[in-house]
Amino acid sequence: MDHLCPVCNGFLSLHEECPLCSEPLDDSGRLYDYYGDYSPYREIDDAKLTNGVQDALHHHCLHLGWCPRCRQEHILAVEEWDEVTLYEYDGIR
Ligand SMILES: [Zn+2]
Ligand SMILES: [Zn+2]
Repeated sequence: MDHLCPVCNGFLSLHEECPLCSEPLDDSGRLYDYYGDYSPYREIDDAKLTNGVQDALHHHCLHLGWCPRCRQEHILAVEEWDEVTLYEYDGIR
């Protein structure tokens, strides 16, 4: 095991706020699951997200949050855990 996403693995629930209105976002699931195979970057701004973020988001898992007020989805980067973090989590549980 190398890195894993605590949200995908059920250790944490997604708790992020909307960047526009600070409303708590609903968890819409994992980005790749949501878009499926056919077009993973359909709605994503290429310049912003395919290049820069791919590198910046190394060891991050992309999730979708739905803002009920803006009626808009936001992409959230969840930091993945390494074995040390996971071990510490097990220790304090
Ligand atoms: Zn995840
Ligand atoms: Zn919002």
